[in-house]
Amino acid sequence: MKTRNAVVVGGGLGGLAAGVRLRAAGWQVTICEAGPTFGGKMNTWSKDGFTFDTGPSLITMPWVFRDTFAAAGARLEDHVELIPLDPICEYRFDDGMRFDYGSQLPDWLATLRKIAPGDVDGFFAFLNLGARLFEVSEATFFRRSPFEAPAPGEWRALRHVPLRHGWGNYRKAVEHFFQSPYLRQLYSRYPTYVGSSPYLSPATLAVIPYIEYAFGGYAVRGGLYGIVEGLLSIAREKGVELRSSTRVARILTSGAKANGVELENGERIAADVVIVNGDAEFTQGLLGKPVPPPRSRSMSGFVQLFGLRQPLKGIREHTVCFSADYQREFSQIFHHQRFPDDPTVYVNAPGNGTTLFVMANAPGVGDASAVWTDSMAASARQRVFDRLGLAGFPDFRGDVVVSDTWTPARIESSYLTPGGSIYGSDSHGWRNAFLRPSNRNPDVSGLYHVGGTTHPGGGTPTVLMSAAIVARQIGARQIGARKP
Ligand SMILES: Cc1cc2nc3c(=O)[nH]c(=O)nc-3n(C[C@H](O)[C@H](O)[C@H](O)COP(=O)(O)OP(=O)(O)OC[C@H]3O[C@@H](n4cnc5c(N)ncnc54)[C@H](O)[C@@H]3O)c2cc1C
Repeated sequence: MKTRNAVVVGGGLGGLAAGVRLRAAGWQVTICEAGPTFGGKMNTWSKDGFTFDTGPSLITMPWVFRDTFAAAGARLEDHVELIPLDPICEYRFDDGMRFDYGSQLPDWLATLRKIAPGDVDGFFAFLNLGARLFEVSEATFFRRSPFEAPAPGEWRALRHVPLRHGWGNYRKAVEHFFQSPYLRQLYSRYPTYVGSSPYLSPATLAVIPYIEYAFGGYAVRGGLYGIVEGLLSIAREKGVELRSSTRVARILTSGAKANGVELENGERIAADVVIVNGDAEFTQGLLGKPVPPPRSRSMSGFVQLFGLRQPLKGIREHTVCFSADYQREFSQIFHHQRFPDDPTVYVNAPGNGTTLFVMANAPGVGDASAVWTDSMAASARQRVFDRLGLAGFPDFRGDVVVSDTWTPARIESSYLTPGGSIYGSDSHGWRNAFLRPSNRNPDVSGLYHVGGTTHPGGGTPTVLMSAAIVARQIGARQIGARKP
Protein backbone atom coordinates (compact mmCIF):
# COMPACT_ATOMS: atom_id res chain seq x y z
CA MET A 1 0.00 0.00 0.00
CA LYS A 2 1.24 3.50 -0.80
CA THR A 3 2.68 5.32 2.23
CA ARG A 4 0.71 8.40 3.04
CA ASN A 5 2.28 11.69 4.05
CA ALA A 6 1.23 14.08 6.78
CA VAL A 7 2.64 17.54 7.37
CA VAL A 8 2.15 19.05 10.81
CA VAL A 9 2.28 22.86 11.01
CA GLY A 10 3.78 23.49 14.44
CA GLY A 11 5.78 21.35 16.85
CA GLY A 12 3.96 22.16 20.09
CA LEU A 13 2.74 19.39 22.37
CA GLY A 14 -0.30 18.68 20.18
CA GLY A 15 1.69 18.65 16.94
CA LEU A 16 4.29 16.27 18.37
CA ALA A 17 1.63 13.95 19.82
CA ALA A 18 -0.35 13.84 16.57
CA GLY A 19 2.85 13.29 14.57
CA VAL A 20 4.01 10.43 16.76
CA ARG A 21 0.58 8.77 16.63
CA LEU A 22 0.41 8.96 12.83
CA ARG A 23 3.98 7.73 12.42
CA ALA A 24 3.20 4.73 14.64
CA ALA A 25 0.29 4.01 12.29
CA GLY A 26 2.63 3.91 9.28
CA TRP A 27 2.39 7.47 7.95
CA GLN A 28 5.38 9.51 6.77
CA VAL A 29 5.31 12.56 9.01
CA THR A 30 7.05 15.92 8.73
CA ILE A 31 6.70 18.41 11.58
CA CYS A 32 7.54 22.02 10.69
CA GLU A 33 8.11 24.25 13.71
CA ALA A 34 8.65 27.98 13.24
CA GLY A 35 10.62 28.36 16.48
CA PRO A 36 14.15 27.17 17.15
CA THR A 37 12.96 24.50 19.63
CA PHE A 38 10.03 22.10 19.80
CA GLY A 39 7.38 22.13 22.50
CA GLY A 40 5.65 25.47 21.82
CA LYS A 41 4.22 26.81 25.07
CA MET A 42 5.57 23.77 26.90
CA ASN A 43 9.16 24.93 26.72
CA THR A 44 12.32 25.47 28.67
CA TRP A 45 14.89 28.19 29.33
CA SER A 46 18.40 27.72 30.72
CA LYS A 47 21.15 30.03 31.88
CA ASP A 48 24.30 29.63 33.99
CA GLY A 49 23.39 26.12 35.10
CA PHE A 50 19.76 26.95 35.95
CA THR A 51 17.01 25.31 33.90
CA PHE A 52 13.37 26.39 34.04
CA ASP A 53 10.09 25.25 32.56
CA THR A 54 8.66 28.35 30.88
CA GLY A 55 5.14 26.89 30.51
CA PRO A 56 3.20 24.22 32.41
CA SER A 57 4.16 23.39 35.98
CA LEU A 58 1.35 21.01 36.91
CA ILE A 59 -0.35 18.26 34.97
CA THR A 60 -3.28 16.01 35.71
CA MET A 61 -5.02 13.02 34.11
CA PRO A 62 -1.74 11.07 33.89
CA TRP A 63 -3.35 8.27 31.87
CA VAL A 64 -3.74 10.68 28.93
CA PHE A 65 0.05 11.11 28.88
CA ARG A 66 0.57 7.34 29.20
CA ASP A 67 -1.89 6.76 26.39
CA THR A 68 0.04 9.11 24.09
CA PHE A 69 3.31 7.28 24.66
CA ALA A 70 1.62 3.86 24.47
CA ALA A 71 0.11 4.76 21.08
CA ALA A 72 3.70 4.89 19.81
CA GLY A 73 4.60 1.60 21.51
CA ALA A 74 6.49 3.37 24.31
CA ARG A 75 6.09 3.77 28.04
CA LEU A 76 5.80 7.19 29.65
CA GLU A 77 7.65 5.90 32.71
CA ASP A 78 10.70 5.04 30.56
CA HIS A 79 11.00 8.73 29.70
CA VAL A 80 9.77 10.74 32.69
CA GLU A 81 8.98 10.27 36.34
CA LEU A 82 5.69 11.78 37.45
CA ILE A 83 5.68 13.06 41.03
CA PRO A 84 2.27 13.26 42.72
CA LEU A 85 1.87 16.58 44.52
CA ASP A 86 0.90 16.56 48.17
CA PRO A 87 -0.17 19.13 49.09
CA ILE A 88 -1.30 20.24 45.68
CA CYS A 89 -0.78 23.85 46.69
CA GLU A 90 -0.48 26.22 49.62
CA TYR A 91 -3.02 29.03 49.51
CA ARG A 92 -2.29 32.41 51.11
CA PHE A 93 -5.04 34.99 51.54
CA ASP A 94 -5.00 38.73 51.97
CA ASP A 95 -6.02 38.62 55.65
CA GLY A 96 -3.11 36.36 56.61
CA MET A 97 -5.00 33.03 56.42
CA ARG A 98 -2.89 30.22 54.94
CA PHE A 99 -3.46 26.53 54.50
CA ASP A 100 -2.39 23.54 52.46
CA TYR A 101 -4.76 22.08 49.91
CA GLY A 102 -3.92 18.45 50.71
CA SER A 103 -4.42 15.86 48.03
CA GLN A 104 -5.19 13.16 50.61
CA LEU A 105 -8.83 13.32 51.62
CA PRO A 106 -8.28 12.82 55.41
CA ASP A 107 -5.77 15.71 55.49
CA TRP A 108 -7.98 18.01 53.48
CA LEU A 109 -11.04 17.15 55.58
CA ALA A 110 -9.09 17.97 58.73
CA THR A 111 -8.21 21.38 57.22
CA LEU A 112 -11.78 21.95 56.07
CA ARG A 113 -13.15 21.19 59.55
CA LYS A 114 -10.77 23.76 60.98
CA ILE A 115 -11.28 26.62 58.52
CA ALA A 116 -14.86 26.07 57.34
CA PRO A 117 -16.69 23.31 59.22
CA GLY A 118 -19.98 24.32 57.65
CA ASP A 119 -18.65 23.66 54.15
CA VAL A 120 -17.74 19.97 54.44
CA ASP A 121 -21.02 18.82 52.89
CA GLY A 122 -20.72 21.53 50.25
CA PHE A 123 -17.27 20.21 49.34
CA PHE A 124 -18.64 16.71 48.73
CA ALA A 125 -21.61 18.07 46.79
CA PHE A 126 -19.26 20.18 44.63
CA LEU A 127 -17.08 17.12 43.97
CA ASN A 128 -20.18 15.16 43.09
CA LEU A 129 -21.16 17.80 40.52
CA GLY A 130 -17.64 17.63 39.05
CA ALA A 131 -17.73 13.83 39.03
CA ARG A 132 -20.95 13.74 37.04
CA LEU A 133 -19.64 16.30 34.60
CA PHE A 134 -16.49 14.21 34.22
CA GLU A 135 -18.43 11.02 33.47
CA VAL A 136 -20.27 12.79 30.64
CA SER A 137 -17.17 14.56 29.30
CA GLU A 138 -15.01 11.45 29.39
CA ALA A 139 -17.45 9.52 27.25
CA THR A 140 -18.23 12.31 24.78
CA PHE A 141 -16.55 15.73 24.77
CA PHE A 142 -13.02 14.42 25.49
CA ARG A 143 -13.23 11.76 22.78
CA ARG A 144 -14.72 13.41 19.73
CA SER A 145 -15.51 16.71 18.06
CA PRO A 146 -18.91 18.17 18.93
CA PHE A 147 -20.23 17.60 15.40
CA GLU A 148 -19.30 13.93 15.19
CA ALA A 149 -22.15 11.54 15.83
CA PRO A 150 -21.73 9.80 19.18
CA ALA A 151 -21.27 6.03 19.25
CA PRO A 152 -24.46 4.28 20.43
CA GLY A 153 -23.06 3.41 23.88
CA GLU A 154 -22.10 7.02 24.51
CA TRP A 155 -25.71 8.06 24.92
CA ARG A 156 -25.65 6.15 28.19
CA ALA A 157 -23.20 8.70 29.57
CA LEU A 158 -25.89 11.35 29.32
CA ARG A 159 -27.53 9.90 32.43
CA HIS A 160 -24.75 11.67 34.36
CA VAL A 161 -25.71 15.11 33.07
CA PRO A 162 -26.20 17.25 36.19
CA LEU A 163 -29.36 19.19 35.62
CA ARG A 164 -29.04 21.32 38.76
CA HIS A 165 -26.10 23.71 39.07
CA GLY A 166 -24.34 22.20 36.05
CA TRP A 167 -25.71 24.78 33.62
CA GLY A 168 -25.39 28.10 35.39
CA ASN A 169 -22.55 30.47 36.10
CA TYR A 170 -19.35 29.04 37.61
CA ARG A 171 -18.94 31.59 40.39
CA LYS A 172 -22.59 31.30 41.38
CA ALA A 173 -22.21 27.51 41.62
CA VAL A 174 -19.17 27.96 43.88
CA GLU A 175 -21.14 30.39 46.05
CA HIS A 176 -23.95 27.85 46.26
CA PHE A 177 -21.69 25.08 47.55
CA PHE A 178 -19.33 27.10 49.77
CA GLN A 179 -19.98 29.82 52.34
CA SER A 180 -16.36 30.36 53.41
CA PRO A 181 -14.71 33.26 51.56
CA TYR A 182 -11.47 31.23 51.51
CA LEU A 183 -13.07 28.26 49.78
CA ARG A 184 -14.99 30.51 47.45
CA GLN A 185 -11.75 32.10 46.33
CA LEU A 186 -9.87 28.79 46.15
CA TYR A 187 -12.49 27.00 44.04
CA SER A 188 -13.06 30.07 41.89
CA ARG A 189 -9.50 29.75 40.71
CA TYR A 190 -10.07 26.74 38.43
CA PRO A 191 -11.41 28.49 35.31
CA THR A 192 -7.98 30.17 35.16
CA TYR A 193 -6.62 26.71 34.24
CA VAL A 194 -8.21 27.41 30.87
CA GLY A 195 -7.40 31.11 30.92
CA SER A 196 -10.89 32.24 31.88
CA SER A 197 -12.72 34.21 34.56
CA PRO A 198 -14.78 32.41 37.21
CA TYR A 199 -17.30 35.25 36.99
CA LEU A 200 -17.94 34.66 33.27
CA SER A 201 -17.49 30.90 32.82
CA PRO A 202 -20.16 28.19 32.84
CA ALA A 203 -20.49 25.96 35.92
CA THR A 204 -19.52 22.97 33.81
CA LEU A 205 -15.90 23.96 34.47
CA ALA A 206 -16.47 22.42 37.93
CA VAL A 207 -15.12 19.35 36.17
CA ILE A 208 -11.60 20.84 36.51
CA PRO A 209 -11.33 20.89 40.35
CA TYR A 210 -12.86 17.41 40.36
CA ILE A 211 -10.26 16.10 37.90
CA GLU A 212 -7.40 17.62 39.88
CA TYR A 213 -8.71 16.27 43.18
CA ALA A 214 -9.77 12.81 42.00
CA PHE A 215 -6.80 12.02 39.76
CA GLY A 216 -4.12 14.21 41.38
CA GLY A 217 -1.78 16.96 40.32
CA TYR A 218 1.70 15.94 39.16
CA ALA A 219 5.08 17.47 38.58
CA VAL A 220 7.81 15.79 36.54
CA ARG A 221 11.24 15.08 38.03
CA GLY A 222 13.72 17.34 36.27
CA GLY A 223 10.97 19.48 34.74
CA LEU A 224 7.86 19.09 32.60
CA TYR A 225 9.84 19.69 29.44
CA GLY A 226 10.91 16.04 29.91
CA ILE A 227 7.53 15.11 28.38
CA VAL A 228 8.38 17.04 25.20
CA GLU A 229 11.87 15.51 25.17
CA GLY A 230 10.32 12.05 25.54
CA LEU A 231 8.02 12.63 22.56
CA LEU A 232 10.92 14.04 20.54
CA SER A 233 13.09 11.02 21.21
CA ILE A 234 10.26 8.68 20.14
CA ALA A 235 9.69 10.82 17.03
CA ARG A 236 13.39 10.65 16.09
CA GLU A 237 13.63 6.94 16.77
CA LYS A 238 10.56 6.23 14.63
CA GLY A 239 11.69 8.43 11.77
CA VAL A 240 9.47 11.50 12.01
CA GLU A 241 11.11 14.33 10.10
CA LEU A 242 11.55 17.17 12.60
CA ARG A 243 12.25 20.58 11.12
CA SER A 244 12.76 23.47 13.53
CA SER A 245 13.10 27.14 12.45
CA THR A 246 10.78 26.19 9.59
CA ARG A 247 7.74 28.43 9.26
CA VAL A 248 4.85 27.41 7.05
CA ALA A 249 3.64 30.35 4.98
CA ARG A 250 0.74 28.71 3.17
CA ILE A 251 -1.43 25.63 3.12
CA LEU A 252 -1.68 24.34 -0.46
CA THR A 253 -4.99 23.14 -1.78
CA SER A 254 -6.36 21.59 -4.90
CA GLY A 255 -10.06 22.35 -5.13
CA ALA A 256 -11.33 21.95 -1.60
CA LYS A 257 -8.62 19.48 -0.59
CA ALA A 258 -5.38 20.25 1.29
CA ASN A 259 -2.40 18.74 -0.50
CA GLY A 260 0.67 20.23 1.13
CA VAL A 261 2.33 23.33 2.50
CA GLU A 262 4.64 26.05 1.28
CA LEU A 263 7.38 27.23 3.60
CA GLU A 264 8.51 30.81 4.04
CA ASN A 265 11.53 30.10 1.82
CA GLY A 266 9.27 28.92 -0.99
CA GLU A 267 9.95 25.20 -0.56
CA ARG A 268 6.87 23.03 -1.00
CA ILE A 269 6.08 19.81 0.84
CA ALA A 270 3.34 17.63 -0.65
CA ALA A 271 1.04 15.81 1.76
CA ASP A 272 -2.12 13.75 1.90
CA VAL A 273 -3.17 15.53 5.08
CA VAL A 274 -2.14 18.79 6.75
CA ILE A 275 -2.52 19.18 10.51
CA VAL A 276 -2.37 22.69 11.93
CA ASN A 277 -1.01 22.84 15.47
CA GLY A 278 -0.52 26.62 15.36
CA ASP A 279 -3.28 28.87 16.64
CA ALA A 280 -6.54 28.01 14.85
CA GLU A 281 -7.09 31.77 14.43
CA PHE A 282 -4.37 31.72 11.72
CA THR A 283 -5.72 28.89 9.57
CA GLN A 284 -7.80 31.06 7.30
CA GLY A 285 -4.75 33.27 6.70
CA LEU A 286 -2.65 30.20 5.84
CA LEU A 287 -5.34 29.27 3.33
CA GLY A 288 -5.05 32.74 1.78
CA LYS A 289 -8.53 33.73 2.94
CA PRO A 290 -9.61 36.77 4.98
CA VAL A 291 -9.05 36.17 8.69
CA PRO A 292 -12.31 36.42 10.66
CA PRO A 293 -12.36 38.64 13.77
CA PRO A 294 -11.01 36.72 16.75
CA ARG A 295 -13.29 35.24 19.37
CA SER A 296 -12.71 36.72 22.81
CA ARG A 297 -9.34 35.45 23.92
CA SER A 298 -8.22 33.60 27.01
CA MET A 299 -5.70 35.11 29.38
CA SER A 300 -2.00 35.44 28.89
CA GLY A 301 0.54 35.47 31.69
CA PHE A 302 3.25 37.69 33.11
CA VAL A 303 5.95 35.19 34.03
CA GLN A 304 9.23 35.76 35.84
CA LEU A 305 11.92 33.14 36.32
CA PHE A 306 14.48 33.45 39.11
CA GLY A 307 17.58 31.35 39.77
CA LEU A 308 18.66 31.68 43.40
CA ARG A 309 22.07 31.46 45.10
CA GLN A 310 20.59 29.16 47.74
CA PRO A 311 17.37 27.16 48.15
CA LEU A 312 14.41 29.19 49.36
CA LYS A 313 13.32 27.68 52.68
CA GLY A 314 9.85 27.45 54.20
CA ILE A 315 7.77 27.34 51.03
CA ARG A 316 5.75 24.65 49.31
CA GLU A 317 6.41 23.52 45.75
CA HIS A 318 3.26 25.38 44.62
CA THR A 319 1.95 28.52 46.32
CA VAL A 320 -0.88 30.83 45.36
CA CYS A 321 -1.00 34.28 46.96
CA PHE A 322 -4.51 35.57 46.32
CA SER A 323 -5.33 39.19 45.54
CA ALA A 324 -7.52 41.06 48.04
CA ASP A 325 -10.33 41.51 45.52
CA TYR A 326 -10.72 38.63 43.06
CA GLN A 327 -13.69 40.11 41.21
CA ARG A 328 -11.83 43.37 40.60
CA GLU A 329 -8.80 41.44 39.36
CA PHE A 330 -10.83 39.64 36.66
CA SER A 331 -12.77 42.77 35.84
CA GLN A 332 -9.50 44.61 35.16
CA ILE A 333 -8.22 41.71 33.03
CA PHE A 334 -11.35 41.03 30.96
CA HIS A 335 -13.36 44.27 31.00
CA HIS A 336 -10.56 46.84 31.11
CA GLN A 337 -7.98 44.63 29.43
CA ARG A 338 -5.16 45.69 31.66
CA PHE A 339 -2.79 44.05 34.08
CA PRO A 340 -4.44 44.03 37.51
CA ASP A 341 -3.40 46.48 40.23
CA ASP A 342 -3.36 43.64 42.74
CA PRO A 343 -2.64 40.39 40.88
CA THR A 344 -3.00 36.89 42.32
CA VAL A 345 0.51 35.45 42.19
CA TYR A 346 1.41 31.81 41.63
CA VAL A 347 4.86 30.57 42.58
CA ASN A 348 6.28 27.21 41.56
CA ALA A 349 9.51 26.13 43.24
CA PRO A 350 10.28 22.72 41.76
CA GLY A 351 12.91 20.33 43.09
CA ASN A 352 15.45 21.84 45.44
CA GLY A 353 13.95 25.34 45.59
CA THR A 354 16.69 27.24 43.74
CA THR A 355 14.54 27.95 40.68
CA LEU A 356 11.30 29.92 40.93
CA PHE A 357 8.57 30.32 38.33
CA VAL A 358 6.39 33.29 39.30
CA MET A 359 3.25 33.96 37.28
CA ALA A 360 0.33 36.38 37.34
CA ASN A 361 -2.62 36.39 34.97
CA ALA A 362 -2.62 39.08 32.31
CA PRO A 363 -5.02 40.02 29.51
CA GLY A 364 -4.43 38.14 26.26
CA VAL A 365 -5.71 40.80 23.95
CA GLY A 366 -4.72 43.61 21.68
CA ASP A 367 -1.32 44.44 20.36
CA ALA A 368 0.71 42.87 23.17
CA SER A 369 4.04 44.26 21.98
CA ALA A 370 2.74 47.85 22.09
CA VAL A 371 1.29 47.40 25.59
CA TRP A 372 4.23 45.59 27.16
CA THR A 373 6.84 48.33 27.20
CA ASP A 374 9.75 48.10 29.66
CA SER A 375 7.98 50.46 32.05
CA MET A 376 4.80 48.35 31.93
CA ALA A 377 6.86 45.26 32.76
CA ALA A 378 8.60 47.10 35.62
CA SER A 379 5.25 48.20 37.01
CA ALA A 380 3.81 44.66 36.75
CA ARG A 381 6.93 43.30 38.48
CA GLN A 382 6.42 45.75 41.35
CA ARG A 383 2.77 44.72 41.75
CA VAL A 384 3.77 41.04 41.83
CA PHE A 385 6.35 41.68 44.56
CA ASP A 386 3.87 43.83 46.50
CA ARG A 387 1.46 40.91 46.57
CA LEU A 388 4.18 38.41 47.54
CA GLY A 389 5.22 40.75 50.38
CA LEU A 390 1.63 41.14 51.63
CA ALA A 391 1.26 37.35 51.57
CA GLY A 392 4.34 36.92 53.75
CA PHE A 393 6.24 35.12 51.00
CA PRO A 394 9.98 35.18 51.82
CA ASP A 395 11.79 38.02 50.05
CA PHE A 396 14.31 36.24 47.81
CA ARG A 397 15.42 39.26 45.76
CA GLY A 398 18.84 39.45 47.41
CA ASP A 399 19.58 35.87 46.31
CA VAL A 400 18.72 36.17 42.62
CA VAL A 401 21.63 35.30 40.33
CA VAL A 402 19.68 34.64 37.11
CA SER A 403 16.34 36.04 35.99
CA ASP A 404 14.17 36.23 32.91
CA THR A 405 10.81 37.85 32.17
CA TRP A 406 8.10 36.58 29.83
CA THR A 407 5.53 39.26 29.08
CA PRO A 408 2.41 38.47 26.98
CA ALA A 409 4.27 40.14 24.09
CA ARG A 410 7.13 37.64 24.37
CA ILE A 411 4.69 34.74 24.68
CA GLU A 412 2.93 36.05 21.55
CA SER A 413 6.08 36.29 19.46
CA SER A 414 7.74 33.10 20.75
CA TYR A 415 4.82 30.77 20.07
CA LEU A 416 2.96 32.72 17.37
CA THR A 417 -0.04 33.02 19.62
CA PRO A 418 -2.18 36.15 19.09
CA GLY A 419 -2.21 38.52 22.07
CA GLY A 420 -0.06 36.03 23.99
CA SER A 421 -3.34 34.29 24.83
CA ILE A 422 -2.40 30.88 26.24
CA TYR A 423 -5.56 28.83 25.71
CA GLY A 424 -7.09 30.13 22.46
CA SER A 425 -10.56 31.58 22.97
CA ASP A 426 -11.76 32.04 26.54
CA SER A 427 -14.35 29.63 27.97
CA HIS A 428 -16.97 32.30 28.66
CA GLY A 429 -20.38 31.15 27.57
CA TRP A 430 -21.39 27.93 25.90
CA ARG A 431 -20.15 28.66 22.43
CA ASN A 432 -16.59 29.42 23.50
CA ALA A 433 -16.43 26.65 26.09
CA PHE A 434 -17.86 23.84 24.00
CA LEU A 435 -17.92 24.76 20.35
CA ARG A 436 -14.25 25.37 19.77
CA PRO A 437 -12.76 25.12 16.29
CA SER A 438 -13.39 21.61 15.07
CA ASN A 439 -10.53 19.10 14.75
CA ARG A 440 -11.54 18.37 11.17
CA ASN A 441 -11.70 21.53 9.07
CA PRO A 442 -15.29 21.85 7.83
CA ASP A 443 -14.37 23.52 4.51
CA VAL A 444 -11.16 21.87 3.35
CA SER A 445 -10.86 18.10 3.29
CA GLY A 446 -7.57 16.65 4.49
CA LEU A 447 -7.08 19.62 6.83
CA TYR A 448 -7.10 19.05 10.58
CA HIS A 449 -6.53 21.08 13.75
CA VAL A 450 -4.75 19.90 16.85
CA GLY A 451 -3.86 21.71 20.08
CA GLY A 452 -5.24 23.90 22.80
CA THR A 453 -6.94 26.42 20.53
CA THR A 454 -9.18 23.66 19.08
CA HIS A 455 -11.49 21.03 20.53
CA PRO A 456 -11.51 19.97 23.38
CA GLY A 457 -9.44 22.94 24.59
CA GLY A 458 -6.31 24.29 26.27
CA GLY A 459 -4.16 22.64 28.91
CA THR A 460 -1.81 19.75 28.36
CA PRO A 461 -4.14 16.75 28.82
CA THR A 462 -6.83 18.17 26.55
CA VAL A 463 -4.18 19.04 23.94
CA LEU A 464 -3.14 15.37 23.96
CA MET A 465 -6.80 14.35 23.65
CA SER A 466 -7.10 16.52 20.55
CA ALA A 467 -4.15 14.62 19.06
CA ALA A 468 -5.91 11.31 19.75
CA ILE A 469 -9.13 12.63 18.15
CA VAL A 470 -7.30 13.86 15.04
CA ALA A 471 -5.35 10.62 14.65
CA ARG A 472 -8.60 8.66 14.86
CA GLN A 473 -10.34 10.96 12.41
CA ILE A 474 -7.47 10.53 9.94
CA GLY A 475 -7.78 6.81 10.39
CA ALA A 476 -4.73 5.91 12.45
CA ARG A 477 -5.20 2.73 14.41
CA GLN A 478 -5.62 3.55 18.09
CA ILE A 479 -3.50 1.49 20.38
CA GLY A 480 -2.75 2.87 23.76
CA ALA A 481 -3.44 2.74 27.42
CA ARG A 482 -6.82 3.37 28.96
CA LYS A 483 -7.75 5.10 32.15
CA PRO A 484 -7.25 2.73 35.11
C1 LIG B 1 3.11 30.28 31.18
C2 LIG B 1 2.26 29.07 30.88
C3 LIG B 1 1.81 28.26 31.92
C4 LIG B 1 1.04 27.13 31.65
N1 LIG B 1 0.68 26.30 32.67
C5 LIG B 1 0.04 25.14 32.40
C6 LIG B 1 -0.12 24.15 33.42
O1 LIG B 1 0.31 24.32 34.58
N2 LIG B 1 -0.77 22.98 33.09
C7 LIG B 1 -1.21 22.74 31.81
O2 LIG B 1 -1.74 21.66 31.55
N3 LIG B 1 -1.04 23.66 30.82
C8 LIG B 1 -0.42 24.83 31.09
N4 LIG B 1 -0.17 25.72 30.07
C9 LIG B 1 -0.81 25.51 28.76
C10 LIG B 1 -0.08 24.52 27.89
O3 LIG B 1 1.29 24.82 27.84
C11 LIG B 1 -0.67 24.59 26.48
O4 LIG B 1 -2.09 24.38 26.53
C12 LIG B 1 -0.06 23.56 25.53
O5 LIG B 1 1.33 23.40 25.72
C13 LIG B 1 -0.38 24.02 24.12
O6 LIG B 1 0.01 23.06 23.19
P1 LIG B 1 -0.42 23.17 21.66
O7 LIG B 1 -0.28 21.83 21.04
O8 LIG B 1 -1.73 23.85 21.55
O9 LIG B 1 0.67 23.99 20.95
P2 LIG B 1 1.45 25.36 21.17
O10 LIG B 1 2.26 25.23 22.38
O11 LIG B 1 0.59 26.55 20.99
O12 LIG B 1 2.42 25.24 19.92
C14 LIG B 1 2.06 25.57 18.61
C15 LIG B 1 3.34 25.65 17.83
O13 LIG B 1 3.03 25.92 16.48
C16 LIG B 1 4.06 26.75 15.97
N5 LIG B 1 3.55 27.42 14.78
C17 LIG B 1 2.49 28.28 14.70
N6 LIG B 1 2.31 28.69 13.44
C18 LIG B 1 3.27 28.09 12.69
C19 LIG B 1 3.61 28.12 11.30
N7 LIG B 1 2.92 28.88 10.42
N8 LIG B 1 4.64 27.36 10.88
C20 LIG B 1 5.34 26.59 11.74
N9 LIG B 1 5.07 26.54 13.07
C21 LIG B 1 4.05 27.28 13.53
C22 LIG B 1 4.38 27.69 17.11
O14 LIG B 1 5.68 28.24 16.98
C23 LIG B 1 4.27 26.76 18.31
O15 LIG B 1 5.49 26.19 18.69
C24 LIG B 1 0.65 26.83 30.31
C25 LIG B 1 1.13 27.63 29.26
C26 LIG B 1 1.93 28.74 29.54
C27 LIG B 1 2.46 29.58 28.40
